[in-house]
Amino acid sequence: MQTARSLKEYRQELDEALSQSFQRKALDSFATAYREGRAKAFAELDLPGLIQQIGASKDSAMADLDNLYASFKARAEEAGATVHLASTAREANAIIAGIASDNGCHTVVKAKSMTAEETLLNDFLEKEGLSVTETDLGEWIIQLRHEGPSHMVMPAIHLSRDEVQRLFTTVTGQEQERNIESLVKVARRELRQRFAQADMGVSGANFAIAESGTLGLVTNEGNARLVTTLPRVHVALVGLDKLVPSLNEALTTLKGLTRNATGQAISSYITWITGANECASGPEGTKNLHIVFLDNGRSTLAKDPVFKEALRCVRCGACANVCPLYRLVGGHKYGHIYIGAIGLILTYFFHGLDKDKNLVQNCLNCQACRQVCVAGIDLPRLIKETQALVQQSDRRPVMNTMASTLLTNRRLFHGLLQTARYFQKPLTGRTAYLRHLPHFFLGPQDFKALPALAPKPFRSMWEQVKPTVRQPRYTIALFAGCLQDFVYPEQLLSFLKLLTDQGIAVEFPKEQGCCGLPVHMLGEKEASREVARHNIAAIDPAQYDFIVTLCASCGSHLKENYPRLLESLPGSQAKATQFSQRIIDFSSFVHSVLGLDGLSFQAGGPKTAFHAPCHLCRGLDVTEPPRALLQQAGFDYQSHEEEETCCGLGGTYSVKFPELSAELLSRKLDLLEERGYQVLTTDCPGCIMQLRGGAEKQKRALRVQHTAEALCSRLLSGTP
Ligand code: SF4
Ligand code: SF4
Repeated sequence: MQTARSLKEYRQELDEALSQSFQRKALDSFATAYREGRAKAFAELDLPGLIQQIGASKDSAMADLDNLYASFKARAEEAGATVHLASTAREANAIIAGIASDNGCHTVVKAKSMTAEETLLNDFLEKEGLSVTETDLGEWIIQLRHEGPSHMVMPAIHLSRDEVQRLFTTVTGQEQERNIESLVKVARRELRQRFAQADMGVSGANFAIAESGTLGLVTNEGNARLVTTLPRVHVALVGLDKLVPSLNEALTTLKGLTRNATGQAISSYITWITGANECASGPEGTKNLHIVFLDNGRSTLAKDPVFKEALRCVRCGACANVCPLYRLVGGHKYGHIYIGAIGLILTYFFHGLDKDKNLVQNCLNCQACRQVCVAGIDLPRLIKETQALVQQSDRRPVMNTMASTLLTNRRLFHGLLQTARYFQKPLTGRTAYLRHLPHFFLGPQDFKALPALAPKPFRSMWEQVKPTVRQPRYTIALFAGCLQDFVYPEQLLSFLKLLTDQGIAVEFPKEQGCCGLPVHMLGEKEASREVARHNIAAIDPAQYDFIVTLCASCGSHLKENYPRLLESLPGSQAKATQFSQRIIDFSSFVHSVLGLDGLSFQAGGPKTAFHAPCHLCRGLDVTEPPRALLQQAGFDYQSHEEEETCCGLGGTYSVKFPELSAELLSRKLDLLEERGYQVLTTDCPGCIMQLRGGAEKQKRALRVQHTAEALCSRLLSGTP
């Protein structure tokens, strides 16, 4: 459970988590196996269609929450249950403690429930004098260790079998074997007695079906069936977001839930409970069934135009499985109670600003969670929105004020960059890097070599390099972005070289500024909007067939976020939409519009890897074009399994969390070195800054290039 009081304290905790080697190995192996398992599980299904269906059905249920609740309550009570509604976590716990007291219950067995974790139910009941035993194996293990789950579906994934063997030896007072089968037998033996003694069972539920008052439970262990059937009293604690109108919606969600959670077509047990059933230990042979619905902010969230999307979550845990940061530090540091991307959002609403203000900043905006979410939640966007809420209610960091001031004033920003070129000279040692920055100045940022500003920015070269084209096939505007304009102009020059004699007229509208992604990443919505407004005024989309960018991060931000940022600005929406439609990334433009047919390349290229920038493969959904270009240009391109894993830059992320950024970078470089790659190409200057800077600092024999530079470097002499 992440509870750090300051960012500094949180960073220290993250640093400690990085040294837990077993956890990291376990999460890595799981992430790889999960990727394959999930792909197989969905192979026969129309996944985008299913995601759309689940999202739409959850949205419509949340819009009708009051009616669904009323209908569920009426049906369930007709069938003999008692239905309660708790507005807060504390109220839910008090209702459950009251049910125990009214019915003379002392011993509770529990099935796994994230909602009960949310209310800290066990602590509450124990303080009321009840004995509570978790009966899901993973949950029991972490209960014995007095810690919370480190994953929503696999709560003890962070523990090795040696740790479990030692724990069970202590608990039973007998030396236990370390093989998994024996350890499971120990748990079964110990827990069986608790089931027999218990007078109250507490479970959660995955579905609450309004038309019939039915609860649906999805589990992989038989314990939930014992919890809900053996004791005379059963209490189900259910979030209001689990309400669905009918069995149909539940079955549709189920189709995606188990596949997305564990790669299983169906889990081992699906249990449907309608009303108070037969129960040998119950009064008059009938179960005493109570269903406690928990609001805890859900009904307010359901009415929020932006955040209501978070209530689509079906708690599959997949957004943690694919998150590169979760893989590094585990769920105790990547969540308060809810873990992974959804945890960064829900923590703010369920547990408050204090618990979320550090946590929510720990996101690379790599989009991996958005791609995997079976409910179609745009998690990175909601994380940004949550950051903006935190910003509004907390003290604004100095970095935010500075970045917003600079990026919303193009002339000031570019003027400073121009001036900085002269002052950096003593620091470069005539190289392309800032070599002589003292270590104490860089501190933890010293994990990569920082590039120097180019001797001349692209905008100052433009009049000399501007191609002259008569009767062009297409007229394009070049969007440079700050890094290529001021640090890597050679990438843009390579692009212009590839365009030679191809009939493409290029314009470089000089009023263009930074795309605004850095301030967007900092949660500075107003500054982000102002930069967007400036750029669509600087580049009139109506004059161009395409607006081409060689920066995937700029491209994804311009295409996806500009229309959203400007939708409320009078008169800007149509232009922002047209602007967005004209945006195209370098590889797609060269591959799909230009083609390489007019160019000749040397044969026998080096062994080459591609790093897929997050904003290219997930933000812009571009996968094939850069790889196809490398092959067409004669590179020995070979794919690898971490091609689409983030390099760790994440814009300003690497400044805030340098330790995690450095770790992601080193892992990527290690893998490439082990596999003997000579060249690494990518389509984003930000990734180049990270990867090339890391390779330089760590003295790796790897040439890191933009794909445009790589293609140019293999052009046969004599080719235009
Ligand atoms: S946010 Fe999406 S991926 Fe994450 S747990 Fe919820 S449904 Fe699963
Ligand atoms: S965007 Fe990337 S880093 Fe952020 S929560 Fe999602 S997967 Fe994790």
